[in-house]
Amino acid sequence: MPSHTFDLLVIGAGPAGYVSAIRAAQLGLNVACVDKESALGGTCLRVGCIPSKALLHSSELYEQTRGHLADHGIAVKDATLDLKKMMARKDGVVKTLTGGVAGLLKKNKVKVFHGTACFTQDSGDGRTVSIGDETVSATSVLIATGSVAASLPGVDLNQDRVDTSTDAIAYAEVPRKLVVIGAGVIGLELGSVWRRLGSEVTVLEYLDRILPGMDTELAKEAHKVFAKQGLKFELGSKVTGVKSTAKGVTVERDGADPVKADRVLVAVGRKPNTEGLGLEHIGVTPNARGQIEVSPRFKTSADGVYAVGDVIPGPMLAHKAEEEGIACVEMIATGHGHLDYQTIASVVYTDPEIASVGRSEDDLKKEGVDYKVGRFPFAANGRARAIDVADAGSVKVLADAKTDRVLGVHIIGHMAGDLIAECGTAIAYGASSEDIARSCHAHPTLSETVKEAALAVSGRAIHV
Ligand code: FAD
Ligand code: NAD
Repeated sequence: MPSHTFDLLVIGAGPAGYVSAIRAAQLGLNVACVDKESALGGTCLRVGCIPSKALLHSSELYEQTRGHLADHGIAVKDATLDLKKMMARKDGVVKTLTGGVAGLLKKNKVKVFHGTACFTQDSGDGRTVSIGDETVSATSVLIATGSVAASLPGVDLNQDRVDTSTDAIAYAEVPRKLVVIGAGVIGLELGSVWRRLGSEVTVLEYLDRILPGMDTELAKEAHKVFAKQGLKFELGSKVTGVKSTAKGVTVERDGADPVKADRVLVAVGRKPNTEGLGLEHIGVTPNARGQIEVSPRFKTSADGVYAVGDVIPGPMLAHKAEEEGIACVEMIATGHGHLDYQTIASVVYTDPEIASVGRSEDDLKKEGVDYKVGRFPFAANGRARAIDVADAGSVKVLADAKTDRVLGVHIIGHMAGDLIAECGTAIAYGASSEDIARSCHAHPTLSETVKEAALAVSGRAIHV
């Protein structure tokens, strides 16, 4: 049985794992990284962030071409959909990027193992993990095994036509009727993709609102826009079961009529992935939600074993996973590392995009914080008018009423996910709304909406 020894073994090569491995190698550690999949990059690159964004872009181009180019004086006759080609392009993007991760690990001299890692009894000399018939020992082991799709009681994901996001980024044909269970991020992003490509999409949501966790005002605005685009929402729908036949699926609900469709996408959240990891051998017990609890230094209850990313508590986001990985290995290698969770933005990549960073108005009200609000609409921004994205969009800056410190920023509109970056930086540096307002923003750009919303905090917006 071949055996190897390293300073650090990272289990999982998703955004948490591969980024940690590279940073640890930069800091001089002898690092190995293992993944059970042959393509590296984790959920994010293989079946998550990247393929979904490739399809969101392609489907948006299709919708634009069919519906909106005529407004610009461009006539396109009979735009047709070649779904196979659209999927092949998406697969090509994934292949390039997962290959890129393999190249980066190689460049940084990280030893890559392919196989399922499982903790075994300790060797007494650091931690020991088996990968197939190989044994790897390391002074420190970092668990970055991510998450998998969750389901509901009464909903068996193994049935034909009952899908997770992994199926819904690879349909061979456009479903005529698609039911999406869950009006969260996956439901809205993939629901939008298939609606644009021609499906009749009904979104069933248990709560009385969409996008729970996001600023309520923003979510209400988003709900209106998506409904206008043709997504059908049935809020307050508690799904109790799904029955699949050769012809279609029936989604059963508590106190409401069943809904029939060709396919159903179950998008009710994800659960931490610790199956088969052998945590019992190191005395680590996941909490009631299946997450591995860690200290602020990402230590688990087992000596020398750390965890980051989707497998620990917190938002399940690729950039959160990456930042945790970097902070964790910097702490291991240098004793110091830092992550400010207030600066982690959430972005929904629909059209318009929705982006938030820092605290929401709901949070501030709950905490009893006295705050001021500055708002600015995309309708009053020159660039938004020029590129035809002025219909739906606004920026809301929340600042402390006494100190003017920026507490949160919430944006709905074209490229909101990019606009939010400067707001995260502002929060990281403890900036005031006055700081953003006095920073020069190039004209004509959408970023001027952020400056104007910051000016609006003190009633000084120029263009409204
Ligand atoms: P993962 O990416 O899940 O990686 C874990 C890795 O560990 C996997 O490669 C797995 O094969 C491996 N592994 C697990 N167990 C073992 C084992 N025992 N041995 C060896 N290897 C193992 N987030 C965003 O921020 N932006 C987005 O736009 C976005 N879009 C998404 C779209 C979809 C459809 C989905 C499903 C998710 C999306 N996410 C997005 C969430 C994002 O993908 C996750 O937050 C992120 O991938 C978490 O990174 P991670 O490294 O913790 O876990
Ligand atoms: P989610 O938590 O965002 O949304 C799940 C939705 O399902 C919620 O609105 C919830 O109320 C609803 N729900 C739960 N039980 C239900 C029931 N019985 N009937 C009807 N509705 C029910 O989860 P998701 O959309 O599956 O996404 C999973 C994770 O992946 C999220 O944590 C998200 O952060 C991540 N992700 C992020 C992005 C992004 O950053 N753009 C994109 C996709 C996924």
